[in-house]
Amino acid sequence: MRSFAYTRAADGHEAVAAYRQGAAYLGGGTNLVDLMRLGVATPDSLIDVTRATSGQVDDGPGGGLLIGAAVRNSELAADLRVRERYPVLARAVLDGASWQVRNMATVGGNLLQRTRCPYFQDVLTACNKRRPGSGCQAMAPGAETANLAILGQSAACAATHPSDMAVALTALGATVHVCGPDSREERGIPMPGLHRLPETTPERDTVLAPGELITAVELPPPPPGRSTYRKVRERASFAFALVSVAAVLEVADGTVTSSRLALGGVAHAPWRCHAAEQAMRGEPATADTYAGAAEAELAAARPLPGNEYKVTLARNLIAAVLEELTS
Ligand SMILES: Cc1cc2nc3c(=O)[nH]c(=O)nc-3n(C[C@H](O)[C@H](O)[C@H](O)COP(=O)(O)OP(=O)(O)OC[C@H]3O[C@@H](n4cnc5c(N)ncnc54)[C@H](O)[C@@H]3O)c2cc1C
Repeated sequence: MRSFAYTRAADGHEAVAAYRQGAAYLGGGTNLVDLMRLGVATPDSLIDVTRATSGQVDDGPGGGLLIGAAVRNSELAADLRVRERYPVLARAVLDGASWQVRNMATVGGNLLQRTRCPYFQDVLTACNKRRPGSGCQAMAPGAETANLAILGQSAACAATHPSDMAVALTALGATVHVCGPDSREERGIPMPGLHRLPETTPERDTVLAPGELITAVELPPPPPGRSTYRKVRERASFAFALVSVAAVLEVADGTVTSSRLALGGVAHAPWRCHAAEQAMRGEPATADTYAGAAEAELAAARPLPGNEYKVTLARNLIAAVLEELTS
């Protein structure tokens, strides 16, 4: 058992002032504490931030919402404004984890939860994300790749980002507000943009500097059209996405006027589908258009031996969700 210090910050300034190298912020602990038990995370001090940021969902400027980083996942999914105006987000959150986990998990912690790559979680294997320069077991012949990336991976890492909420926030174009130890001022990071692709530095999941604290997530006014979230997983509860789609679709007079699509389970970051969106714009809202859009997006896929099925799955899921939103 490794010992560690514990403090609870009263506000954001106290939290970032307490941050030192080797420390970690603690939200609900549903991911971090698991990783500490596995020996993957070894912080020497925990700064509890569940009272350091807002635990409320407030009306934002121009008809959007401002979600405090300490809002629990269950409270976010239950918020009437979220359910009515951002169904894609409510569904994504409800599709994640279990009631018990969602009651503990915070918005900030959900966005920064770490990959479920089996090699990242097993300290006895090589993993460039866990130990930079040690190699990537997922690239070895016979590796277990079924849950790994098909888009945007590098020779150093094929891990996927696990958060369902982040996929919906990417489709919605949310902004993540953070404050850090160096600049006390807050900055806003538009989604996608918080999470990064692995390149040669997979140990960095996000663009955050050490000690930066997520304080809130700002939702812009709801985009026009209908929205939904669809997740394919190995069982109906308690399972991470093999592939998921967050979709917002606006159709007028039988033509696609606007769309916002993001994929989960396929890359090191939530994957905004710019190619599919562009392929659909101004086209008839038909199954053929949707199949073509999905094809355009997946043209960039580079599956590993053993996860080729994800390409077909993602293609079919995009088309099916768009048809569902059109009917
Ligand atoms: C059995 C199980 C099933 C699950 N299934 C799913 C699923 O299907 N889909 C899904 O999306 N998730 C799933 N999860 C993951 C779950 O959603 C996350 O564990 C949870 O959202 C993390 O939130 P937390 O507040 O507990 O974070 P913590 O575990 O407290 O922290 C996670 C990370 O975020 C950092 N952090 C926390 N708050 C802040 C902040 N405000 N600013 C900066 N850094 C911060 C911590 O330092 C840590 O690195 C599952 C978890 C379990 C245990």
